[in-house]
Amino acid sequence: MVEVRLENLKKYFDKGRVKAVDGINLTIKDGEFLVLLGPSGCGKTTTLRMISGLEIPTAGKIWFGDRDVTYLPPKDRNISMVFQSYAVWPHMKVYDNIAFPLRIKKYPENEIRKKVKWVAELLQIEELLDRYPAQLSGGQRQRVAVARAIVVEPDVLLMDEPLSNLDAKLRVMMRAEIKKLQAQLKVTTIYVTHDQVEAMTMGDRIAVMRQGKVLQVGPPVEVYSKPNSIFVATFIGAPEMNIVDVTVKETDKGVVLEGEGFEVPLPEELGELLRDYINKTVVFGIRPEHMTVEGISEFLHVKRKAKIKGVVDFVEALGTDTIIHARVGSKIIKVKIPGHVAVELKKEISIIIDLDNI
Ligand code: ADP
Ligand code: MG
Repeated sequence: MVEVRLENLKKYFDKGRVKAVDGINLTIKDGEFLVLLGPSGCGKTTTLRMISGLEIPTAGKIWFGDRDVTYLPPKDRNISMVFQSYAVWPHMKVYDNIAFPLRIKKYPENEIRKKVKWVAELLQIEELLDRYPAQLSGGQRQRVAVARAIVVEPDVLLMDEPLSNLDAKLRVMMRAEIKKLQAQLKVTTIYVTHDQVEAMTMGDRIAVMRQGKVLQVGPPVEVYSKPNSIFVATFIGAPEMNIVDVTVKETDKGVVLEGEGFEVPLPEELGELLRDYINKTVVFGIRPEHMTVEGISEFLHVKRKAKIKGVVDFVEALGTDTIIHARVGSKIIKVKIPGHVAVELKKEISIIIDLDNI
């Protein structure tokens, strides 16, 4: 097991025209499950490939503990990688697929047998050892890929969107399994995904990437509740956070946020925080789940509330939740309400805002 440290890591392609990774500083703790989260093309795979040794950095360093591994070939790093495409060898039985990395390392056959048995039990694929990959389902094949990755007991486990090829139900199941497995093995893990739900449910910490840079690193709850940028705020959470430009105003009711067609009076200490912004425009963000509709859903646990008026523009019934799209001024604000509710279109509603979550 090992701590991984990325020091001002960069990778430029095409003579510097493509800055795939543009100065990442990140420490992944020993035994931690860190998720690299970001949209397609933001540099996640390139970062992982540099950590694995498949790609040489343009600049910066990679440390495994106090060992500088920046220029070491992959085989000298004691890492394992799992890809989106399962990459199991079709001409080898499952047993031989899993045994392969151990054979490369010249383990004796009796030890190989023990280790393969150990991971096969761990991943519940004992009964598949005699089959060829073509005789497996996608989920089973991915289990074999994971088994092969951990059989060598790597110092660092790297996973690049390993669940994206699985159907939705299996993906949810495998999330939990990989998370449990990692907790059991305590192997330092860097897991790449563009799926914010996967990141939220699996990561000990999440590093949100955009355009080759890490914007924010923290435990899922922190990144969710204290995003440091509009990008992070809207990338995490679904439906996404409502973002509206407002003006900070001083009134006889105290400090308020004035938007088009609404006004939100602020609790005193929040108003104090915005004292330097009186008459200035700020960005007001509120998540759909931090609002509700008066008369439809109670907000009993919420201590400090404000109320704004809106008109129902569209209703998305999702089964467990309903998303109400309300027109407020010229903006559409999304409000998430638990359960299945029928709401009339064009109806005027009062939207309750949880002031502790703005
Ligand atoms: P992600 O995994 O987040 O989708 P990648 O790391 O694959 O992103 O790619 C980051 C950027 O670098 C993209 O713009 C991609 O087109 C570019 N890129 C990746 N690999 C190469 C390469 N070998 N040559 C040129 N450009 C590349
Ligand atoms: Mg990728």
